[in-house]
Amino acid sequence: MIKHDILVIGGGLAGLRAALEAHLRGADVAVISKVHPIRSHSVAAQGGINAALGQDDSWEAHTLDTVKGSDYLADQDAVEVMCRDAPGRVLEMEHWGTLFSRTPDGHIAQRPFGGAGFPRTCYAGDRTGHNLLHTLYEQVLRAGIRIYREWLVTRLVVDEGRCTGFIAMHTPDSKLEAFGAKATVLATGGYGRIYQRSTNAIINRGYGISLAYHAGVPLQDMEFVQFHPTTLMGSNILMTEGARGEGGYLYNRLHERFMSTYAHDMMELAPRDIVARSIQIEIDEGRGFEGGYVHLDITHLGEKKIEERLGGIRQISIDFAGIDPVKEPIPVQPGQHYSMGGVPCDVNGATPLEGLYAAGECACVSVHGANRLGGNSLLDTIVFGKRAGEHAAGFVKGITMSAVDAYLESLVREKQAISDLMGEGGGNFAVVRDELRSVMQQDVGVFRHRDGLQRAVDMIKELRERGRNVRVKSNATSFNFELLNAIELKGMLELGQVIAEGALAREESRGAHYRTDFLERDDEHWLKHTLAYQTPEGPRLEYKDVTITQFQPKRREY
Ligand SMILES: Cc1cc2nc3c(=O)[nH]c(=O)nc-3n(C[C@H](O)[C@H](O)[C@H](O)COP(=O)(O)OP(=O)(O)OC[C@H]3O[C@@H](n4cnc5c(N)ncnc54)[C@H](O)[C@@H]3O)c2cc1C
Repeated sequence: MIKHDILVIGGGLAGLRAALEAHLRGADVAVISKVHPIRSHSVAAQGGINAALGQDDSWEAHTLDTVKGSDYLADQDAVEVMCRDAPGRVLEMEHWGTLFSRTPDGHIAQRPFGGAGFPRTCYAGDRTGHNLLHTLYEQVLRAGIRIYREWLVTRLVVDEGRCTGFIAMHTPDSKLEAFGAKATVLATGGYGRIYQRSTNAIINRGYGISLAYHAGVPLQDMEFVQFHPTTLMGSNILMTEGARGEGGYLYNRLHERFMSTYAHDMMELAPRDIVARSIQIEIDEGRGFEGGYVHLDITHLGEKKIEERLGGIRQISIDFAGIDPVKEPIPVQPGQHYSMGGVPCDVNGATPLEGLYAAGECACVSVHGANRLGGNSLLDTIVFGKRAGEHAAGFVKGITMSAVDAYLESLVREKQAISDLMGEGGGNFAVVRDELRSVMQQDVGVFRHRDGLQRAVDMIKELRERGRNVRVKSNATSFNFELLNAIELKGMLELGQVIAEGALAREESRGAHYRTDFLERDDEHWLKHTLAYQTPEGPRLEYKDVTITQFQPKRREY
């Protein structure tokens, strides 16, 4: 058995920042990740990170934009914390070595992003996540923090109502091991890959979120799924919002800049939910191009600016669509992008389960509410990663490690669960997974309706039954991807069910959750967070109040 005071599950920005902070506060901390940390999805973030650094800008203005963008579902006290902490966290990353793009006079450059009243998004070309993640990884290496890589955490250990560690599989040899901790930080990222069209890496399956769900923690606001307006037609690789921030236009097949119909003032820089719906309407009403896409045109920006600020997406367009955006518009369509919901926690990362903290995309603090503004997620990872690490370090001071028996019992149960998965006959994980992705895309997508949502719920229940019958035929002990996929499938099905049932129950349109049978936001009945509890029959939904401090809900207009 392996023991540390604090174990951080996840080597993305949130996990590394939490680990670094816990270490700086004197805790014995280690990171565990199913891939090498710099292959975490944070590395792919393109457009930038928000902080009110400008002289005319303020954390209060950032708070208002975020709350409005969230369609008033974000907890305003949490948003205040994030926006206040933002400049400090971003400058700290700069001092640790992140090479942000600069203005001619040497300040950190900031570009406009959707839903923001001020150019507030700091960026490193269009490779911001890459630069941030490498900086943090260097700091973690410098601190000598132990990293267990290529370990898949499969189950949390709960002993007398407290999370005391987990069971994980070492993927190079398929061995199971118990890890003991006084505090565990969940920083496992999003679940994008339960959708057919997603900007997320294939490792983003949300299994970390389902670990908490299994341990008895309810999941919060899972029906709020962000669809990015501009993903590359076909592969759905992200075309950063920075492209519109730098002045890119959206055109339909008739060469109309159609955003004037939907967001007259902010045009292409309206928040993501609005732009994604606008594009989808153009496509659905026949004004898109054949195959279901519109054009994102940046040709007028010129080669120099495109190379300097959007070089990454230029190369992606050339490599994956054979289109050079210097010369031609990019074909784009909406795709799943971000998980607003997740494991509920307070501003210090504490979840309802003692000893378990959460940070980053797997967590729901909630600062993004019903719709996240671009540039706020990278910020969320480092602000709340730091806070989770800090508070976990304080928590472990008064705690003793659990007795070995609890771990051994979990280890035995996990060994049995995995051996039950092996064998001939039964179904194949890929068939069930692909059907799940397809129903999520079709019926729990940009536009939702009772009939489609009911169909999705019924279908997912059936898929869960079939999922129980999935068997792994490969006996490979080294990197048995069939086994890893089969293990994670269970979590994907559960999250799909929570999302679909939450969306079916929420009879209103708010942020990214848009019901064609309930077109308006309904604050009287639905200004509340959803909590989904695991039961053998499926999720049980409960609701809790949203924290409103300064800003009373108003109609969103852009
Ligand atoms: C293409 C793209 C571009 C983006 N661009 C921006 C942007 O410009 N600005 C912005 O603010 N946001 C952006 N986002 C969102 C942002 O990048 C992510 O929300 C954020 O990076 C998530 O960081 P994280 O640390 O929470 O998770 P991740 O970086 O996804 O890391 C998750 C970690 O958990 C580990 N893990 C998961 N499950 C397990 C398990 N069971 N056992 C062990 N380890 C596990 C993984 O190995 C990984 O190390 C973008 C997202 C995408 C998809």
